[in-house]
Amino acid sequence: MLRNLKPIKHLFFIIMTTIITMSILMTFSEPDSASASPKSKSGLFLGTVINISVFDPISDDRFEKIFTNSAKKLNTIENKMSVNIPSSEVCKINDNAGLQAVSVSPETFFVVNKGKYYSSLSDGHFDITIGPLVNLWGIGSENARIPSDDEIRNSLSSINFQNVHLNDLSNSVELKDYDMQLDLGAIAKGYAADTIRDYLQSENVQSALINLGGNIYALGSKPGADYWNIGIQNPTDIRGAYVGIVHVTNKCVVTSGIYERFFIDNDQRYHHILNPFTGYPVNNELASVSIIADHSIDADGLSTSVFSLGITKGSDLLESIEGVDAIFITKDNDVYMTSGLHDKFTITNSDFVLMTLASK
Ligand code: ADP
Ligand code: MG
Repeated sequence: MLRNLKPIKHLFFIIMTTIITMSILMTFSEPDSASASPKSKSGLFLGTVINISVFDPISDDRFEKIFTNSAKKLNTIENKMSVNIPSSEVCKINDNAGLQAVSVSPETFFVVNKGKYYSSLSDGHFDITIGPLVNLWGIGSENARIPSDDEIRNSLSSINFQNVHLNDLSNSVELKDYDMQLDLGAIAKGYAADTIRDYLQSENVQSALINLGGNIYALGSKPGADYWNIGIQNPTDIRGAYVGIVHVTNKCVVTSGIYERFFIDNDQRYHHILNPFTGYPVNNELASVSIIADHSIDADGLSTSVFSLGITKGSDLLESIEGVDAIFITKDNDVYMTSGLHDKFTITNSDFVLMTLASK
């Protein structure tokens, strides 16, 4: 989503994402769907497959209305925040980089503000001005390639979230450097999931799963149960293979990992979470991190931040935030979780070993 892909490549990307995400949907809904049959529908929005499954006993017409209104909300968000839509507010901000401030809607301002907040909280390991580097690598598009050192050096020089100036009186955003570019790809899906959650709640829906390309929001609990069972993807296996199951109620589960989008060159994997200091894909012990939180925008910001920071710094950061938990999976199949998950997360795949964060 929100990346500079030409239309054809974008379509290819959407189709691939559709196939991949359909398997995620099956994965995530399987533990619970066996005993309950929701009203469920998928569509392509924000460059990915979105699925909404409502488990309340509602009529087909009512579900259709809910899905149609959700789709409208997703389209509105995409039209404001996508870097692929030239008239979007984010493109206007980027087009005016180094020139002038751009007044935007409260929604876009909120997401940019959150993005800047997580950029600062992660000491720049998450950086919403990563756009030039994302475009350079093209990961997830047919143009994906290893850039030259010069190209990387050039694009790094324009990445600095501190040069995003925000004015909350006029809701305006100004990029101080002329070659800066915002990329909200690490956080906008989270905002969209929260928007749909709020809408479903306003419609008095009690029990639903919202899946935005793997960003899950589990509303209420599974009918007849105290919680939802959400599968955590095995980062090194096919889609639908779990490491374990986490029990959640009214929470989101958002994962960032090396398997989401990547290409292989010379046996080397290049994935889509980039280090704003080196210009290369983040290379640490982590294969994935899943954040469990109340709000998907926070979980999305944190999943990318914590992935980039690594286990030690990432878990320190999480410990300082109330109501947020995480499951870390390393490339060596070690699993770490934060203290709030001890009675909620169970490993179901014996290839993985639960470790304690204290031993790190
Ligand atoms: P996904 O999009 O698979 O859910 P993330 O939430 O981790 O995964 O977001 C990854 C996306 O965020 C990338 O595709 C890119 O658009 C953007 N991005 C990559 N590296 C960073 C970074 N260090 N800081 C902020 N955004 C990033
Ligand atoms: Mg994210």
